[in-house]
Parts: sequence; C-alpha cells; structure tokens
Amino acid sequence: MKSDIEIAQEATLKPIHKIAEELNLSDEDYEPYGHTKAKLSDRLLAKLADKPNGKVILVTAISPTPAGEGKSTVTVGLGQALNKIGKKTVIALREPSLGPVMGIKGGAAGGGYSQVLPMEDINLHFTGDLHAITSANNALAAMIDNHIHQGNELNIDPRRIEFKRVMDMNDRALRQIVVGLGGPLRGVPREDGFNITVASEIMAILCLSNDLQDLKNRISNIVIGYTYEEEPVYARDLKVEGALTLLLKDAIKPNLVQTIENTPAIIHGGPFANIAHGCNSIIATKTAAKLGEYVVTEAGFGADLGAEKFLDIKTRAGNIETDAVVIVATVRALKMHGGVPKDELTVENIDALKAGMENLQKHIETIQYFGLPFVIAINQFPTDTTNEVEYIKAWCEESNYEVALTNVWAQGGEGGIELAEKVVQTIESKEKQFKHVYELEDALDTKIIKIAKTVYGADGVEFSSKAKKQLAFFEKQGWGNLPVCMAKTQYSLSDNPALLGRPTGFTITIREFRPSIGAGFIVALTGDIMTMPGLPKKPAALKMDVTEDGKIVGLF
Ligand code: ADP
Repeated sequence: MKSDIEIAQEATLKPIHKIAEELNLSDEDYEPYGHTKAKLSDRLLAKLADKPNGKVILVTAISPTPAGEGKSTVTVGLGQALNKIGKKTVIALREPSLGPVMGIKGGAAGGGYSQVLPMEDINLHFTGDLHAITSANNALAAMIDNHIHQGNELNIDPRRIEFKRVMDMNDRALRQIVVGLGGPLRGVPREDGFNITVASEIMAILCLSNDLQDLKNRISNIVIGYTYEEEPVYARDLKVEGALTLLLKDAIKPNLVQTIENTPAIIHGGPFANIAHGCNSIIATKTAAKLGEYVVTEAGFGADLGAEKFLDIKTRAGNIETDAVVIVATVRALKMHGGVPKDELTVENIDALKAGMENLQKHIETIQYFGLPFVIAINQFPTDTTNEVEYIKAWCEESNYEVALTNVWAQGGEGGIELAEKVVQTIESKEKQFKHVYELEDALDTKIIKIAKTVYGADGVEFSSKAKKQLAFFEKQGWGNLPVCMAKTQYSLSDNPALLGRPTGFTITIREFRPSIGAGFIVALTGDIMTMPGLPKKPAALKMDVTEDGKIVGLF
C-alpha cells in the first residue's frame, strides 16, 4: 500500500493561477507563493460582499481514538465528490501544527487519494502563517517583560501575567519556566511558561477576525495580566496593537491550494479543538462560501469539541449560517469505544461495534439539539468487514438517520459520490431550526453547565475555588457575556480521557479560567488538560527524512 506522501508525490498539480482562474479570480485577487500556493487578497471578501453565499457543510466526527477517524480525509474527499457531481465546491481547512506533525500524526492534510497538496509544504512551513503568529505573540511577550524592566509604569504585577510565550512544537520542558534570571541587566525574574502556538490567543484572534481592522481591535483587547491593584492590563495599554497587526498583515490572508483532484482548498488558521476553538479562519470559510456553491469545512475532534465551538463561537463571530453537518465514524473507532484494544481492531467484532455505537448516538443528539440536518459518513478502512459495515447501516436506517459508506481514501472523489448526493439532498429537503446551546446573556457558569449537560451528557459541573473566584471577578469586569471556549480532552465526552463510549454519571471539573478577551471568549480548563502538549515516546519525527536527491520520506 502506498503511503500518503508517495501518493502525493505522484499527483499532477495545476499551476495555482489556473485554480484561481477557475474561481474567476483576477490577478489583483491573489498573490502566488511559488507555483502551487497563493495568498488571497485581504480585500477579496469585501469585493465579493454582494455575491450570495454557498451552502456551508460542517464535517465533524465521533470522539477520536488512536484508531483514527479520518475527518480531514472525508472533508477533502467530500469536496472532490461534490465537484464530480457538478456542484462547484471549495474546501476550507485548518493549517497543521508542527507539534502533532512531529509528534503523533506525521501529517494533517487528509490521506490517500483525498489530500490537499503540496502536502509536504502544508505540513511543514507552508506560507509562514504559524511562524508569523508565533512572532507576533512573542513580540507582545517581549514588550511585557521590557515594560517591567524599564520601570513598570503600568504597575503590572509580574506574578499576575496571563500572557504566555508560544512555540509551534510539543515541548513539555517549557510548560513552566523562570525568565529574567541573571541580575538587574537581564530583567525582572518571574514565573512564565510556553503554550503551543495553536493554543494562543493570537491564533484564535486571527481565526475569528472578519478583517484587518477587526484583527487590530481584537489585539488591542488582549488582557495580558493584572496590576498590583488587580486591574486588567490590556495590550493597548502597551501600545503594541499596531506592530502586532503589522506582523500579521500577510498571515491574515487566506491560503489557496488544491486537492489531489484539483478541487480548490483554502487552508487558513489552525487552533486545536481540545485546548482552543478548533476551526479554520472566518475569513477562509466566508471566502470559500463566496467562491463556491458549496463549502466543506471541518472542525477538530468530536462534535463535543470542534462542532460545539464552530456553532457557538465561530458562526456567532462571523455571522455564518451552517446548512448541514457530516458526522464521520469508522468501524475501527466505534469498536474501540465498545472496548476493543488497538491491536485487535482488524478482527470482526459486532458486539463491540454495537456497544460503541452509543458514542455516535451522543454526537448525533448534539447535532440534533443544534437543529441541523446531518448525514453520517462511514469512512471505510480496508480491514472493515461487510457484516460490520452492514450493521452500522442497519442501525442508522432503524432510526431514520441518513448514512453513506465512503471510500474517499482509496478512491478519491469517486468514493464519496453517495455521501455527496445525500448531503445535497439533505440540504435541499430537510429543514434546519438552528439554535445555540447557550445564550450570550447566560452567566458564564450557566453556559458551561448547559454545554456539559447537553453536549457531554454530564450530570453537572464542579468549579474549583480558584474558578469560582475568577467567575465572580470576570462577571464584575463585564466579561460575562462572552462565549465559553471549553478546553477538554478529545478522547472522552467527559473530562477523563479513559472513559470511552458514552459515559454517564460523571461531573465536569473546571480547574481554572483564562480570559481571551481579544479573541472574544473565556477559556474554561477542565480536568488536567494542558495548553502545551508533550511528545510521545516514539515521535513521528523519528521516521522522517530527506534523501540525498531531495525526496521527502516518512511524512505519513
Ligand atoms: P482526522 O482529521 O480525523 O485527524 P485524518 O483525515 O487526518 O484524520 O486521517 C488520519 C490518518 O488516517 C491519515 O494518515 C489518513 O491517511 C488515514 N486514513 C483516513 N481515512 C482512512 C481510510 N479510510 N483508510 C485508511 N487510512 C485512512
């Protein structure tokens, strides 16, 4: 079997200007970055404002397991399939982070014959957006420490600085550090730490901004920490919003690439869905909706994380209408939810599959709660047996759920035609009655309780004493009307990664909150979730290499 990188290397890409021309873009609408990538103009969205929007299809999934679900693969495959049945479609995806690429995944640009290309660029440095975000973030961090070193006119309490340094790598050694050591010439010592870039507020801001001015306003509103009197200090107090916006002036432009079948794809922004809001940028999704009759976009991890935040945070900030949801499930992952260990997944096991269906059922209920029509996509793996696939189909049919078997990994768009047709039919025939899980007027704790009960199936929420104090303080600051960005393990509907399937009788523990006032949400940290991941014992990086003749190997 060929690897993803081998398949990618055999593909014939069109020059990027051809893809742009097919989207009716003129020269002023995009800037080529080499032969196969381009940045779209940040004025394009305003230029297309009067064009009607295409239909927005959100791809989500069951709770992920180490067996792999293939959400990005299905997103790309569905986009290709829609084009095959004559529907002009643009895909909108997130940019991969080097953390998971070097750590566990080895690549995040889809797989098999449903990939976005050039996958090696997309997976590595791409057009430099993540580096620009890292630089902007760390410029602000440097300004904070410099301000304190130069006399601390704002009276910032070095023990109460919330704003962390970032890097785009899993590096647990940097979670907690001390900076400013070495005497008076080296600064004021204080405890600090690094987050991964994709968990940073700057990343969230880039993804939630509607334009460059909005980006600047949001940067101004970043709360960097508190004074000795416990008053919030904003980035605007340091007068850095102009410089940070300048550092991000190209990163805010969405990136245009193509799939293996030359379907246009806009890849822009990449917050994680467990420790951040998990969606590509508003600008990318909206531009895709102006350029295509259909947009296929994805939100990270299961529907409890990415989809909830897509529907409660992103669509609110961007005023985006969602037309249908695709819920991806695999036989392998459902069996894991039913109790099968990873090394026994290739053996047929209907009983385990039956037990695991309850995880899918919970995510279906979530999408039904949001009032959106949906189709279940069974992402077929070579090891699935006919009995297993037939079991899932029968289970869906019994409850009148639309389901399609997809084989876009092995066959590209051709393998997703049934899914594409069902999605189009669903959009055309089923009514949507969209509602959010919570209202912005709800108190912060009410919002969290609503998410925990409705989306996770929890009995209730416990707030630590720190979280309770923060809640009162945040409400007093006037931040109570912001949406909540839950930081929770992706592996379980609960905050305990060991509880697979559909756990019941559990409570969610909120350890602490972090204000992301610039991004426009309050982050609620559950369980022991970390905003700087670590590398596994055998990182994916160990398989990677470049041969003497420049050929890339091991990037999945
Ligand atoms: P997700 O978006 O859910 O994290 P991806 O789409 O990135 O998942 O897929 C993860 C890995 O699994 C990729 O390397 C991809 O090639 C592989 N994969 C996805 N779907 C299939 C499939 N149907 N058969 C075999 N491998 C697959």
